[in-house]
Amino acid sequence: MYYLSTPLTDVQGIGAVTAKKLASIDIHTVSDFLLILPLRYDDRSQHTAIDSLPLGEVATITGYITDAKQFRKGKRTFQSATAHDETGSIKLQWFNNPYIISQVQPEVLYTISGKVGKYQTLVQPTIEKVGQEGIHTGRIVPFYTSTTRMPQGTTRRLAHHILKQLAVETQPLDEYLHTQHSTLPDLLTALKILHFPDQENDVSEAKKRIALEEFVQIARQGRVGKEEWSDKASVGQIHTQPQPIVPASIPFAPTNAQERSIQEIMHDLGRTTPMNRLLIGDVGSGKTVVAGTAAYHLVRAGHSVALIAPTKLLATQHTETLRSLFPDMEVAVLTSTRALKEASTPRLVVGTHSVINQLETISPALVIYDEQHRFGVLHRSTVMDKKTIPHTLTMTATPIPRSMMLTLFSHLSVSHVDELPRGRKPTTTWVVPEQKRADSYQWIKNQLKTNPDWQVLIVCPFVNPSEAEHTAHVANAVETHKHIQSAFPGYTVGLLHGQQTKKEQKTSITAMFQKDTQILVTTPIVEVGVDLPQASIIIIESAERFGLASLHQLRGRVGRAGSESYCLLFVSKKSGEATKRLRYITTHHNGSELAQKDLEMRGAGSLFGTEQSGFAGLRFASWSNIELLKLAQHADEVLPKQWSSEIISIAPSADTQVVAN
Ligand code: ADP
Ligand code: MG
Repeated sequence: MYYLSTPLTDVQGIGAVTAKKLASIDIHTVSDFLLILPLRYDDRSQHTAIDSLPLGEVATITGYITDAKQFRKGKRTFQSATAHDETGSIKLQWFNNPYIISQVQPEVLYTISGKVGKYQTLVQPTIEKVGQEGIHTGRIVPFYTSTTRMPQGTTRRLAHHILKQLAVETQPLDEYLHTQHSTLPDLLTALKILHFPDQENDVSEAKKRIALEEFVQIARQGRVGKEEWSDKASVGQIHTQPQPIVPASIPFAPTNAQERSIQEIMHDLGRTTPMNRLLIGDVGSGKTVVAGTAAYHLVRAGHSVALIAPTKLLATQHTETLRSLFPDMEVAVLTSTRALKEASTPRLVVGTHSVINQLETISPALVIYDEQHRFGVLHRSTVMDKKTIPHTLTMTATPIPRSMMLTLFSHLSVSHVDELPRGRKPTTTWVVPEQKRADSYQWIKNQLKTNPDWQVLIVCPFVNPSEAEHTAHVANAVETHKHIQSAFPGYTVGLLHGQQTKKEQKTSITAMFQKDTQILVTTPIVEVGVDLPQASIIIIESAERFGLASLHQLRGRVGRAGSESYCLLFVSKKSGEATKRLRYITTHHNGSELAQKDLEMRGAGSLFGTEQSGFAGLRFASWSNIELLKLAQHADEVLPKQWSSEIISIAPSADTQVVAN
């Protein structure tokens, strides 16, 4: 008998080698194994008569096997045999499969599945005795991912073996579903259906059962985290609210939304419970000042603050910005090569993830994450061992649909900077057909003639040409850079991407800041918050590769100085669907709306760009399944206090350790 928690080393047929291989991809128990869900199924349940086999397709026959033989050619062996039914016969062919020859018995009836080749042959067919329950033939057969590095047949056989002997204790979530008169199958049934469905139609409901469990587990961890969080003490507070709240060194008046957000944060910072707040605001809405003001007041009250940026580039930029906005606050930049020796005077320490390793030394009262896409879901699961933890503020331009907010981020407080600074003009956006490329280059040249200090960004999805056939047409920075150099003779054309050395990157960026570069060819590396005040035109190549929210982020890179700005979207592959989607962004300038549209059109993965999968990284569920989210939310409320999923654990991501350390 197996249970969900049975270690794979106790499963018959799994040896030390296989167990180790699986452990290396984090598959340790029976439930881990069963959650390797099939990628697809082959319907081998329909038997075909030998005289009507469809050429080139996979078919299943029932018959006797005779004339099993083996040949040798060099190191390779070939096996053949003949299968018969009442309508005729067909040749079976294998290679390097001597085992099969020793297996077949002439008086036994077999189910035989394989691809029908030319000259009446079945190529590499799978055979099973009739009467025995079929695993590989005579049914709908599962096919698995290759990441387990196990042969399909082995995975299938093991899944079958485990499911035969699996005992699942009554699941509170199944009992809950029963009270809701839900049509979802219970956990054991779902697992059986997922691996060996009687009909493929059943699979989607079974998947939903697992997806629901994932959602409930996430919601549960969120709530537990919130409760535990509220038992903690903050590292430091601000005892009296400062007046004025925004220091006089800020050269502009804050928008109402900025002011409100600052008030909300300051209120939290006055409490002994640590803040866990999300600061959401469109690109260019001015989140930096909001966070900077909070840091400023804490530093003045004698505490240190850490700001963690996603890239070095951004860390440097924040340091400069914050130094000029708050001249009487000490701002230190932290690089991996320059470690902090010891705690010193209160200050703001800015850096990338390397800061995390030094939090012990910095001992900040507040940790600020900028443009952190992998926030939230996991933060809370980590605070657990410490009695006092810093306040946390996470800034993001990624709009989060309301449904997600309620269920999955219920542990966070939220401030919205839902207003742009006055005078900011929306970026004029066009979808440009390929045949107008030359014209648009000419147009850019004219613009640069009239506005000599303007700069142009050209964003390509890839760094290098793609070797995969289906992505060969996608624009890459390296080739585009050459192309632009020859299309814009006499202009300075820079190149910036993530595969350059740090030194090369720095040179490119410095040249851009010093206006030595007029046109910068780059990758989405610029998406995450780089502030280039003079960039006024952005071209996005292969724009169909990006979600609308990402395009909106990229578009936010231009026009920050309050001047006119333009965004040209080139499409590398003609698709009506893609063009329609891109048209939407030419007329919409609200990040939340664009995210909502993304969710509807492409699913939630797209919301968070291609690389930030950590956040969108649901294994089974999909963010856009609102019904299931609602059900999960309710289930979380009514399930017993000590409930936690037996099959799904949501691992804390790297950034969550921050709070714990
Ligand atoms: P984001 O929210 O995208 O991080 P930033 O904080 O980088 O935005 O701000 C974008 C630009 O707008 C910066 O150059 C900043 O100095 C400027 N800015 C911020 N708030 C205001 C304001 N209230 N009035 C005018 N300009 C502002
Ligand atoms: Mg920013």
